[in-house]
Amino acid sequence: MSSNYVAQGSQALNSRSKLLTSLLSERRLPAKGWDDASIESFISEASMMDSNNFLDNIGVGEREARVYSPLVSRRHWGLAHGIGRSGDVAAEQPKAAGSSLLNKLTNLLVADAMKIAGLGDMGPALVLPLATGMTLTLTLLAMKAQRPKAATKVVWCRLDQKTCVKAVLSAGLELVVVPMKLEGDQLVTDVAAVETAVLREGAENVCCVVTSTSCFAPRSCDAVADVAKLCDKLRVGHIINNAYGVQAAPLCKAVSQAWRRGRVDAVVQSTDKNFLVPVGGAVVTSGAGNTKVVDAVRMSYPGRASMSPILDLLITLLSMGAEGWKRALTDREDVYRYMGEKLRETAEVNGERMLETPGNPISMGMSLASLAMEGSGGGGGGGGVGVSFFGSMLFSRCVSGTRVVAPGKRQEVGGVVFDGFGASHDCYPVPYFTAAAALGTTRDDVDRFCSQLSKCFKDYRKKIAKNAKAKAEISGED
Ligand SMILES: *Cc1c(COP(=O)(O)O)cnc(C)c1O
Repeated sequence: MSSNYVAQGSQALNSRSKLLTSLLSERRLPAKGWDDASIESFISEASMMDSNNFLDNIGVGEREARVYSPLVSRRHWGLAHGIGRSGDVAAEQPKAAGSSLLNKLTNLLVADAMKIAGLGDMGPALVLPLATGMTLTLTLLAMKAQRPKAATKVVWCRLDQKTCVKAVLSAGLELVVVPMKLEGDQLVTDVAAVETAVLREGAENVCCVVTSTSCFAPRSCDAVADVAKLCDKLRVGHIINNAYGVQAAPLCKAVSQAWRRGRVDAVVQSTDKNFLVPVGGAVVTSGAGNTKVVDAVRMSYPGRASMSPILDLLITLLSMGAEGWKRALTDREDVYRYMGEKLRETAEVNGERMLETPGNPISMGMSLASLAMEGSGGGGGGGGVGVSFFGSMLFSRCVSGTRVVAPGKRQEVGGVVFDGFGASHDCYPVPYFTAAAALGTTRDDVDRFCSQLSKCFKDYRKKIAKNAKAKAEISGED
């Protein structure tokens, strides 16, 4: 074979191996995202470092990463050992050097991505193959182990998401709900009420306070820094549910301020909501100054863990690179502004208005007050069209993710009763719906959403008119 072709070929191989060398030495997101072939070749090489893929392996243990189906094996690049050991879910596995390497790298790269997003002075990140709710439960259990035996209460700023409630109850802890304060349209943290709740229960009986950053409008991000100062003063734990907060710079800033100014034991965020991967993972972290609870989560995780959600995240981060990640973040900011403008126009045309919620940089709400009034008969006798019907109209027009919230719904979650469920408030004054400008949403999504929305307003009003006519005919016959 001609030597200059071989030279050219090995140069190509060289530049791929340089990518890898630089990744392993820098341990940060590559500036530019990798192409799929480079990612696959890296994963295949790592996989060959696991004992189940050795050419001459003789496995005689009870866990040798044997996989029956070649299809399943391919789906996982032969990475079947999982991650961690019984003593520490982040520990290296002697049988799986490749998996261990990929796992370590994922934790480092996701930490870098989170720093880029605005989480300053962050400690190590721990990716777990459990979604946010389960990871919150595990984190609460680790927190509980560090508190006095009697500390079984969790003081929680209300957020109407069933998972938040279940995460606390599943950890065997008792939920103490602190109502949100209505300020204008917005629901904000009642910091004084948090203090009152902790003092009423007795700080020695309180495991921790749980606050949240990302949430449905009209609820705003909690005053996490104020609560952090309070938790420091009262000497109780503080866990922040940052479910999809990584994608929004103001929320990252709030979290960083919280761990700089006060007490934050752990922050939990979802991998699917923040990094565009399938559901299945979450990241636990904290400020660099207080990593005790995160360490405890690592150590208390019972057994080995699935590699799958970790690999999805690693592939995604390598594919995005720092450039792609930053672009995803700024595109989202752009689409948040765009959605706000477009929805405001749609609201005005239809006699509604946007709820003013400056403390929520992701989700937004539009009132459905006139629609509800017309539907109930107040605007011309068209009784019986509940505003929640508007939600099903949107859904049947292929719009997913909006939530119509009508006041007055009572809901029980794990034995805890909530009035006005959905609104994070017992009696929010107006019906509304919410939509989110979350990572990955495009301007085109917004345009198509607003066009379906306008049609729904029209159809809803048609239905009201039809009902009113039918009613009039019935009463005419009488
Ligand atoms: C999505 C979400 C959860 C639950 O997350 P899972 O990943 O489904 O467990 C909890 N809290 C908030 C605020 C969320 O947005």
